[in-house]
Amino acid sequence: MKRTIKKLLLLLTIFSLLICGCNGKSNSDSKNKKTLRVGTNAEFAPFEYINDDGECDGFDIGLIKAILSEAGYDCEVVNMEFKSLIGSLTTGGIDVTIAGMTITDERKQSVDFSTPYYTATQCIIVPIGSDITSLDDLNGKKVAVQEGTTGDLIVTPSDTNEIITDKNTVVKQFKKASDATVELLNGGVDAVVIDSSPAKKIVAANESKLTCFNDTSEEEYAIAVAKGNSELLDAINKGLETVKENGTYDELVDKYINNESTTKTYEKTGNVFVDFINKCKFVFVDTNGYIRLLNGLWVTLYISFLAVILGVILGFIVAFMRLSKDRHGKNTVASVIAGIYIDIIRGTPAVVQLLIMYMVIFQSKLGTVAAVVTFGINSGAYVSEIIRAGITAVDKGQMEGGRSLGFSYFETMKYIIIPQAIKNILPALGNEFITLIKETAIVGYVAIADLTKASDFIISRTYETFLPLLAIAIIYYLIVKILTKCLAIFERRLRRSDIR
Ligand code: GLN
Repeated sequence: MKRTIKKLLLLLTIFSLLICGCNGKSNSDSKNKKTLRVGTNAEFAPFEYINDDGECDGFDIGLIKAILSEAGYDCEVVNMEFKSLIGSLTTGGIDVTIAGMTITDERKQSVDFSTPYYTATQCIIVPIGSDITSLDDLNGKKVAVQEGTTGDLIVTPSDTNEIITDKNTVVKQFKKASDATVELLNGGVDAVVIDSSPAKKIVAANESKLTCFNDTSEEEYAIAVAKGNSELLDAINKGLETVKENGTYDELVDKYINNESTTKTYEKTGNVFVDFINKCKFVFVDTNGYIRLLNGLWVTLYISFLAVILGVILGFIVAFMRLSKDRHGKNTVASVIAGIYIDIIRGTPAVVQLLIMYMVIFQSKLGTVAAVVTFGINSGAYVSEIIRAGITAVDKGQMEGGRSLGFSYFETMKYIIIPQAIKNILPALGNEFITLIKETAIVGYVAIADLTKASDFIISRTYETFLPLLAIAIIYYLIVKILTKCLAIFERRLRRSDIR
């Protein structure tokens, strides 16, 4: 038993090191340069998006790399939710933010902005033939926006909003521009309000269905750093000046903003079968969707696997804590602590635990490790109850028998009770693994590219929802089916050893 636990711990350490290795380059990559963590939200093409190779790409990414290299820094790009960027700068989770972020008075109170690097406006995307022709027309309508952006601010009725005054205006906030667009394509809203360049990309990818116009004043994008970090801000401003002078800035504008080729679509022939094949090719092959799915599958599997190992180790510890009694048969402090842990974990949603772990405890660093720890701790609570039930299910006489043979309490546990309990709990532990695999589907919240996030990626590139979602549903189903089959075989074997 001890040896098995040692082996599991070793495996866990090796995997954690591997993950840390995959998670980003460490400072030792470049011996002299300091690596800065650059936060972005890669859902805002052409400024930032995930390219076909699964990497953060876009105008902003090219620009910040050039600026930081001028300033003598290396950079590691961290993809996160747009509304978390300012908070992460303040808490030190990231050093710099570049995300097509508009300078606003409210944001200026929390962060310091560089000199502006791009001027934009907000665009209103509507279905072709819509009667909405001005911002004013959005009064009383349903509008989709990206949560926490200036588009959101412009259309949400408030005391300071002079244009959208109708309180019946429904504003649906989405995490991503592509989700807002899918909502518009599905008829769930009348318009999407978003910045001009992303709007043009969205319309280009849906040119037979959508059109856009702008009817707002100009806004300026800038790079943000934590308040008071004037040394870094000066270096960024100088770097920006240099890349504008040496032509890098214009090259990036040509490459990303003036270039139409990032927009992909597929030809419709009218033949249902041929169109379906073309659509599948477009969704899964042309945008490298199948690679995203395979990578996502691997991430889902290893996060679940490591979390289950951590969960089992924790589960054993907590179960023994929970079962511990003092000399008078009363619950020990350890037992009470274990009870509180189980109570809290079972009483709060896993997604909340994940967000607390990643944003508060890990400070937006080491996302995969944060996910493994979250799911390990989460699973530990359930596993401990399974183990406790397994141990208490072993007949009391077994303990008495062991003790009367001269074994100590721990020896009886080790040689008599636990081996029997394990047989009882293995099927339930298997089920816990299956449940965990499906539960990890929420890791996309902290920008981990798991299987579910892979479908998200495909949807945001193709605006096709059915095929990617169907694909991941089938993959999850198959994993669960295979595991269930393996468990059934395992259980049959265990039962066979019982019949003698
Ligand atoms: N420019 C907008 C803002 O700053 C949107 C930015 C974004 O969605 N990345 O709110």
